[in-house]
Amino acid sequence: MIDRLVIFGATGDLAARYLLPGLAALRAAGLLGERFQVIGSGREDWDDARFRSWAAAQLDRHAPHLPADARQAMVSACGYRRSDVRDPDSVAVAVEGGGPVAAYLALPPPVFPSAVRALGSAGLPAGSRIVLEKPFGEDLASAESLNRLIAETMSERDVFRVDHFLAMTTVQNVLGLRLANRVLEPIWNSAHIACVDIVWDESLALEGRAAYYDGVGALKDMVQNHLLQLLCLVAVEPPASLGERDLRDRKVDVLRSVRPLTLAGAARASRRARYTAGRIGDRDVPAYVDEEGVDPALGTETFAELELEIDNWRWLGTAFRLRTGKALGCDRKEVTVRFREVPGMPSGSGICPAPNVLRFGLEPETLSLELSGVGARIGELSPQTLAAKLRSPELPAYGQLLLGIVNQEAALSIRGDEAEEAWRVITPALDAWSSGLVPMEEYPAGTNGPGPR
Ligand code: NDP
Repeated sequence: MIDRLVIFGATGDLAARYLLPGLAALRAAGLLGERFQVIGSGREDWDDARFRSWAAAQLDRHAPHLPADARQAMVSACGYRRSDVRDPDSVAVAVEGGGPVAAYLALPPPVFPSAVRALGSAGLPAGSRIVLEKPFGEDLASAESLNRLIAETMSERDVFRVDHFLAMTTVQNVLGLRLANRVLEPIWNSAHIACVDIVWDESLALEGRAAYYDGVGALKDMVQNHLLQLLCLVAVEPPASLGERDLRDRKVDVLRSVRPLTLAGAARASRRARYTAGRIGDRDVPAYVDEEGVDPALGTETFAELELEIDNWRWLGTAFRLRTGKALGCDRKEVTVRFREVPGMPSGSGICPAPNVLRFGLEPETLSLELSGVGARIGELSPQTLAAKLRSPELPAYGQLLLGIVNQEAALSIRGDEAEEAWRVITPALDAWSSGLVPMEEYPAGTNGPGPR
């Protein structure tokens, strides 16, 4: 366990909304040692007191449900050191203090390489770790180059590439439920499963985040990381253990088994779209291209769909459909497993059972099974749903993720080769889009996305 976390980019949105609340949740749960220290670092000319009062305000705003004493204890554990990650001397000062440290890069991705170089030249004490936020690279080549740079500085076991979806209880439950239930695993294959839909539809629009999102878009922001990680957990072979090596080896196998798309295949298998002006609930939403800070010339999509196949014994013949979008009519965040129809019913029964559907709700946390249930009369079936609302997770995803970093458990983060394989999977779609083979469709904000094509 380490007892010092240095957050670079500590005055930013991620630190305010997720990292400080995650740490305070760990403090409230008694999962951080008494000596645990958080050093905020950034370009602002602040001192400890200024950072503490800012941190207190962020916790009031983003974690008001946590006990006041836990929030106060977290604030008291905070200090501040000014740094610019392009200035290695200032980075060395930020991390100095003896004992291993976790350096969390909550920074704009373009400055990751400077930060990694500066941490390398600072010479971190043994047992230190480095944490990189997503997106990891902006394409395959830049991810490979960032991995090479990191490898010069740290050993892979000390590198945490963040995908906070992996730290969501419901996401981990997808794997747990599969493996722990005898009724599921024997039918968890293409003989029984026709398709898997992995959906992250948001009613939130851009919400002032053009500086990050514009030029990135839905495919790189969501599909390359979060949705492919979900696909891995649905499709992974049972690992020897849930430790980082076994689990991540098996996840890489899944990504490597995704059938490579040709350019023409990627054009058929993918869609991109962006929202036009519309209304979501009682909010008027401007067209994406009219949002503040957006450059329409970048052609950024706010909706992406990608259909993939996995070429292995278990999955050949099952379609995996990944879909995500912003400014949609309703939030729908789920993994839906659609089973094949039963092979036959007794002749003359006149019964047409509907295929079973198993649904993992990711946010809110739910689990349901649609089946053909008994009807009111003999020989009649009616569709029924067995539904469970799951217990809310004890820790927020960022709390869970930070706990893994503190305890050196890397299973909830992405390994270097895994990040590269994920880029390899989406590269044909990116190429098809940039070659103009896939039109940019449109959908009014507040609707269900682009209509059927
Ligand atoms: P912000 O722009 O809000 O914050 C970035 C922070 O980095 C600011 O404190 C900024 O300081 C600092 N910074 C920028 N350049 C330097 C530099 N050269 N040296 C030192 N500090 C610097 O971004 P976010 O907090 O939103 O995002 C941070 C990371 O987290 C990104 O990689 C993002 O993709 C990722 N992320 C963010 C999420 C979110 O919801 N916010 C969700 C998931 C991932 P200054 O004010 O001086 O520029």
